[in-house]
Parts: sequence; C-alpha cells; structure tokens
Amino acid sequence: MTGLLPWWTLPPVFVALTLVIGFGVVVGFHRMLTHRAVRFVRPLEVFLVVTGLPAGTPVGWVGHHRHHHAHADDEDDLHSPRRRGFWVAHTGWYLGTTSVTLSILYALAGPLRTAFDAFWRPRTNQQYAHLAKDVDDDPVFRALSRPVVYAAALLGWVLVLWVVVVTLWGGLGVVCLWGFHVLAYNFGDLVNSWGHVWGEQPWDSNDDARDHWLLALLAVGDGWHAGHHAFPGSARCAFGPGQVDVAYLFCRACERLGLASALRVPADADLARRRCRAAPSSPLPPSEHPA
Ligand SMILES: [Zn+2]
Ligand SMILES: [Zn+2]
Repeated sequence: MTGLLPWWTLPPVFVALTLVIGFGVVVGFHRMLTHRAVRFVRPLEVFLVVTGLPAGTPVGWVGHHRHHHAHADDEDDLHSPRRRGFWVAHTGWYLGTTSVTLSILYALAGPLRTAFDAFWRPRTNQQYAHLAKDVDDDPVFRALSRPVVYAAALLGWVLVLWVVVVTLWGGLGVVCLWGFHVLAYNFGDLVNSWGHVWGEQPWDSNDDARDHWLLALLAVGDGWHAGHHAFPGSARCAFGPGQVDVAYLFCRACERLGLASALRVPADADLARRRCRAAPSSPLPPSEHPA
C-alpha cells in the first residue's frame, strides 16, 4: 500500500504532531487548566484541550494532578516512584495495577491504548474530580469529561489522524504512526516516573521532582519538573542558564500575537528564596510579570 507523499515528508509531520499534542497536554491540560498559569482566547483554549484528550478527561486529569501536587511523593501520591516503584508511577497507576508486565504492555500498546483509554479513562482515577470544580463548571470541558462524549471525541480525533496518515503515506505511515503513538504517550508518562527519579534538584524541596534537559526536550518543557514543583503556578518551569522551556516559549509567542494573557511567573525574590545555595541562577527578563 503506497501513499501520496514520499517517506521523507513523514519526520517533520510527526515532529509537528508531537508539538501539537504536547502543547495540548502540557500547555492546555497542565499549565492552563490545572495551574491557571496562563489564559488563552477561547477558541485556542478549546483547541488545546481537545488535542490533549489522549491524556485523559479534563476534569479527571486536573483533579488528579492537583492532588499530586498536594501530596507529591507522600503516601497518598498514586504515581510516586519512591512509594510505588518506577513502572507503577510510569503507567501502572492508570490501570490500578502493581504488575510490571501489565505496565510495560500498556506502555507499548500505542493505538490499542487509545481505544482502551477511550472507555477506561473517564471511569477510573476520578476520585479527585472534586478538586477540579472550576473545570467542571465549564460546559465544554464538563461535556468532554463525560464518558460517551470523551470516547467519541478521542476516537474521532485519532481516527482523523489515522485516515490522513494512511492516505498520505500508506503502509509506511501505519508503522510510523504506531511508533508515534507509543513514543508520544511515553514522553508524557516519563514526567511522572523519570521526572521524580533522575536529574537535578536546584530548589529547597521535600519531594523528589527533578529537572532534566532530555526529559524537557521529550516532554515539551515539562521535564523541568523540579522547577515546576517549586513554582507550580508559573507558566515558566525552566529557570537555570541555558534551559529551554518550549511550552513557555509557545505561551510567550501566543501572548505577542494577542492570543494569550495573564502569564504568571515567580518574582526574582521568590526564586532566590527557594534556590539551593549551590544552584546557578538566571534572572527573569524585566518584561515578565511576577506570579
Ligand atoms: Zn510531579
Ligand atoms: Zn503540575
């Protein structure tokens, strides 16, 4: 089965797709909905949340993530590697299993995981939905969190993706899209596992969150996880010299285009107070507004 386009057009499309879904989860679900660190014009707000739906339902994801911040790496944290082990933190907690084998199979399931999640995610890990009342008050995000609407929206969005890729690239597109699904899911999962195990901790903190440049690259900026846990209400998570936070650059670009507003970042004094003595510093540009 051959497609309409040559193979070499695939890599840039998949990089762009990684950014689109990554911004949906990292910017839409995480920094905008959960932490209210930035606001977007309504059409972009809805677009970001719809493209981030593979991460879960808006109400369930936000409620659970707020609970994670309130209980990071303590006994109640469902995806703490310290408490539950690496594989439970990576994927097992979605399934409610401590089986490493099941966790690995789920991590490698790619599009099968999407089909499973369409029915599984709205029905599990919803115990902290009460922490996302503000999201539930939004009629669009409340509707997207309901089981039937969520399944239809998620499967519809992924079906469109498959039809376009198979039409344009044929059999090669099928193989690459399967691999893309596996990688894209795991890049996000790694923030909960790797992000609490390996990397630097430049902040005074009681949790295990870590900063790592490679995880930041794979997770569109959320790999600056120690910075994020130190300043969860900030639209920017990278504060060290030379550290690049792609999600924050996206927010800033949108702000310049008039599509985003109310970006919150910590004041220099707050950064200095939380920073470990030995860590290098990188002051914020003077144009940015303290959170
Ligand atoms: Zn965390
Ligand atoms: Zn967070």
